[in-house]
Order: sequence, then structure tokens, then C-alpha cells
Amino acid sequence: MRRSRLNVANFANAGRGFGNGSFPAFVFLDMRIIVLGAAAGGGFPQWNCGCPNCARARRGDPAALPRTQCSLAVSADGEGWLLLNAAPDLREQIAATPALQPREGGRGSPVKAVVVSGGDVDAVAGLLHLRESQTLALYAARRVLTLIAANPIFRVLNPASVARREIMLGRREPLTDFAGRPLGLAIEAFAVPGKVALYAEEEGEEGLGTAEGDTVGLAVSDEAGASFHFVPACAAFSDALLDRLRGARLVFFDGTLWTDDEMIRLGLGTKTGRRMGHLSVSGGDGTLAGLAQLGIARKVFVHVNNSNPMILEDSPERAILARAGWEVAHDGMEIAL
Ligand SMILES: [Zn+2]
Repeated sequence: MRRSRLNVANFANAGRGFGNGSFPAFVFLDMRIIVLGAAAGGGFPQWNCGCPNCARARRGDPAALPRTQCSLAVSADGEGWLLLNAAPDLREQIAATPALQPREGGRGSPVKAVVVSGGDVDAVAGLLHLRESQTLALYAARRVLTLIAANPIFRVLNPASVARREIMLGRREPLTDFAGRPLGLAIEAFAVPGKVALYAEEEGEEGLGTAEGDTVGLAVSDEAGASFHFVPACAAFSDALLDRLRGARLVFFDGTLWTDDEMIRLGLGTKTGRRMGHLSVSGGDGTLAGLAQLGIARKVFVHVNNSNPMILEDSPERAILARAGWEVAHDGMEIAL
């Protein structure tokens, strides 16, 4: 399939402190972030969707770049990698990302740990690709670990090779691989207004206003002090969330829908964005307005639904958000911090 490598940073020169033949006592490399997938659940195009956006993506229209489901890869040293969410497309994402592929000779993987931000299918289904007795550390909030434990298919992740570790909300957690070796990265999960995973909703229950830990945002930091935030699902702005994002260097944020009733208007579904646990991008209570005054240095939309007009590079909506200082992530996008 086609993949774009627009704006790829030159990581050969990304290290700070190299270049004059002598190594300083401490060398901090830039944190590397690769967007493995930038689309919301279903991907772009979605298998059963014939909407105008999906039709353009299928035709190979260069302004309608295909995207897989949302996941990021992060590394402090370019050797060991952390995945933020395990999308159903993970196998294909690894195939498209040399940094995540095994070195030659025998079995092995640079993927050392996975942090899962919620129990939704598009965040956990990719864990099934990580079987084959490869050692890994799996980090998630208790609510999500409980959902995973309740689904017997995840027993393919044998505890002898996959360590399941609970992350406590609001606490910075240094990450290690299966054997306890530091990855040079730390994670802090924080509660975000959201909803329980669709399949876990009780019959007749709206699934909103659910327990803390159903939906979390992730702050990732390295030992040199670089950090960014990843919030792929957000149903509302809380003061705590806005305070946390104020002045951030880099935020990846939920870009699911442009308008709350977009799916209904396009005849693609019966649920509003709110009902699905997602703020919309536009409007007085949307993300562009809500995050406008926080002094965030770089703002990137991820988890973009195929129905959202901003997924098209030539849409008026894309121009609006570009003027507001936002970017739309694409698969293969790389950022160094
Ligand atoms: Zn579509």
C-alpha cells in the first residue's frame, strides 16, 4: 500500500552532543515518536464505508491518504520501543516501520513495552499480533487490565512472556522491559472524560460518565526532560485536563469528528460524537476553541474518523485547522523532541 513519509526528520543527526569526536559524560538523544496509525476505529478507508472520503482514498487520490488505526511508537534511544496502544493494524504497521522490525538473525523485537490507554477494540486488538512468546511489558490502568483479563482470547499473551503491569492514574511511572531493564521513558496516565469500551457497555446503559480509568490520556517523558501528551479519546474538557495541557511542547489529540452529528448527517450511523465519547473538532465547545489559548507549541490530531472532512488535505476544514495551528497526523509521521 502507499505510505507517505512527509516531513520525516533526519534522525541521523538528531542526537545532541555528538559530532566532535569526543563523547560528553552524558548523552541525551532526542525522543523519537512515530505515528503508526492516525485514523479512528475502522481506519481510512473503512472496510464497509462508501462515503465520499473513503471512496477518494480507495481511488488513490493523493489528497485522501489512507490511514491505519491509531497508535504511536516512542523511543528514548532508537533501540527499544514503546507502543502507545496496540491497533488491530499493528502487524501492517510494523511491516511499514523499519525501526520496529527484528534485527537479522533469530527471533526478537525492538518493541519492548505497550501502554494501552483504553479497552476499545482499536486500542487492544493489536495485542493479539504480539503473541509468539516474545517478551513484553504490558501497562494499563486497572479497569483496562480487568477487561483484558475477562476476554479469554488474550490468554495467547502468556504471562510467562508478557508481564501485565498496572499503571496508577496521576503517578509518573518509569517503564522497563519484561526483564526490568529501563527504557529511558516514563509514563503518567491521567483520567480524561470519556466512556467505557463499546463492547463493555451494559444493555440499555449509555456508557457515559463511567469509572475513572475507562479512558485515560498519557503523558510520556524521557530522562532529558522532553515530554508530550497523547489523548486519543476525549468526551469533554475538564479543568484538570486543560491545566495539564497548558504550555505543552506537543499534544496528540482526539480528532474523531468535525461535527457532533456528522455520522448521522452522512447516513453512516445513528450515534453522535458525544455518544461515542468524542468531542468534535469544530464549534464553540469543540477542540479548536477549547485548546486555542493554552500555549501548546505543537498540536496534532490523531484518531481521525474517515467521515471527518479534515482528513482530506484539500478540504476547507483542513485549511481552517491549519490556520489555527493544528496538524493532522498521517501514518509514518515522525517527530523528534
Ligand atoms: Zn467513510
